[in-house]
Amino acid sequence: MSQARLSPGVAPGRLPPDQLDRNFADIAPVIDRHEAIVAADRCYFCHDAPCVTACPTSIDIPLFIRQIATDTPDAAAMTIFHANILGGMCARVCPTENLCEGACVRMESEGNPVEIGALQRYATDGLMAQPGHPFQRADTTGKRIAVVGAGPAGLAAAHRLAAKGHDVVIFEAREKPGGLNEYGIASYKTVDEFAQAEIEWLMGIGGIDIRHGAALGRDIDLVDLNAQFDAVFLGIGLGSVNALDCPGENRKHVVDATSFIRDLRQSTDLGEVPVGRDVVVIGGGMTAIDAAVQAKLLGAENVTLVYRRGPERMGASQHEQDHATSRGVKIICNAVPYDIHGNGAVAEVEFRYCEDGPDGLVPGSESFRLKADQMFRAIGQRLEIEAQTLTLAGGKIAITGHGRTSVDGVWAGGDCAEGGDDLTVTAVAEGRDAAEDIDAWLTGRAMVSPG
Ligand SMILES: Cc1cc2nc3c(=O)[nH]c(=O)nc-3n(C[C@H](O)[C@H](O)[C@H](O)COP(=O)(O)OP(=O)(O)OC[C@H]3O[C@@H](n4cnc5c(N)ncnc54)[C@H](O)[C@@H]3O)c2cc1C
Ligand code: SF4
Repeated sequence: MSQARLSPGVAPGRLPPDQLDRNFADIAPVIDRHEAIVAADRCYFCHDAPCVTACPTSIDIPLFIRQIATDTPDAAAMTIFHANILGGMCARVCPTENLCEGACVRMESEGNPVEIGALQRYATDGLMAQPGHPFQRADTTGKRIAVVGAGPAGLAAAHRLAAKGHDVVIFEAREKPGGLNEYGIASYKTVDEFAQAEIEWLMGIGGIDIRHGAALGRDIDLVDLNAQFDAVFLGIGLGSVNALDCPGENRKHVVDATSFIRDLRQSTDLGEVPVGRDVVVIGGGMTAIDAAVQAKLLGAENVTLVYRRGPERMGASQHEQDHATSRGVKIICNAVPYDIHGNGAVAEVEFRYCEDGPDGLVPGSESFRLKADQMFRAIGQRLEIEAQTLTLAGGKIAITGHGRTSVDGVWAGGDCAEGGDDLTVTAVAEGRDAAEDIDAWLTGRAMVSPG
């Protein structure tokens, strides 16, 4: 065992490079043709298929599975991409156990659904590996649309608008496009720079110009954009992280889980990413699980995730929770941090058990302490920018219909918009549908129904 592995505090290089490579390898590699045809043969090709209803992008799942079963995977990929242009990323990151596979009739009858996610990845990876881009733009309309944010929502909107012949300019605050596909999703779900490869492929449609380092509220202004462009789509996600409101929160090594994950995703050498020996994560969603699992995979000795309610209330699915525990993460429910102790840096966190009653959480008198040299906050995110001229609802941009905001000519979708469930696939669906609505508004053409 290396010295770094044992050393207390927050240190890089806790595991040797070959171990890190194994830990962060593709968690669900693409299946081969034979496996795909066998998996596709399990589908009943249901009429009114519940898997389609459960997919936020309404992909025609029985159709694409039939196309795989008949050995026409490129046609299957096109069925997917017509509904979801980021079908490659969604095949990797969708919590399918809560969506299509959770609804599959084989799940109910046998507890073993058709492997829809794996089949989607087989088809989409196959087509994306081929040269060129499979969609063509319609004749130019002369209309110019500003898209703010190059995350899944903005990219899906931009592609659909470009396909309809509009010229799109994406204004992106960061130096790389992709949003949380690039800076957030767990490394082992999207290996080999897939997020960037997918965007390059998507941009192959033409008519989309991305301007980096252009932040709304800092470098650009919504009123100006609205005046200069025929329509505006906002897909700016949720850039700020909620505070714990707990004494000691400002101690060294108490950080946002999203910053830890971002640094890990951007690192070219995982051996250089510092991680604690005793890590505590606060939260119950995917961000909390991903931070906990990746801390463990980097070589942290003890990783404990603490959630304030019961496991059934966690934002992370049972599958994600099982994945975390199988990697050695300990999950403690019904407890809240009460005090963060230490001398400069965090050393120990004190918790109170609590009950989740009809009137909310009631902290009890029983407490416990966890040793911690690193602590991650993962209790939700919120909108980063000022409301500007937009009406907000529940801290997000208020919308009606397919993403129409309170300002004429301005749409919003994805995490920044009211409602939704903070999933990649939902952001794609909302970006796509807002683009359809913008097109109908600008040209009078009928809106193409989702999917
Ligand atoms: C750690 C983590 C793990 C996750 N894992 C999963 C998962 O496994 N599966 C899943 O389905 N979902 C997952 N999610 C949720 C998913 O990533 C989001 O729901 C999805 O990325 C939302 O897309 P979006 O386009 O709305 O926002 P984002 O992906 O956040 O993209 C917003 C974009 O807008 C840019 N931007 C922000 N502010 C401005 C501004 N003022 N001006 C210009 N540009 C701006 C940002 O830089 C970014 O590029 C995860 C989220 C997190 C935080
Ligand atoms: S519900 Fe399952 S069996 Fe039915 S069409 Fe969907 S994937 Fe096939």
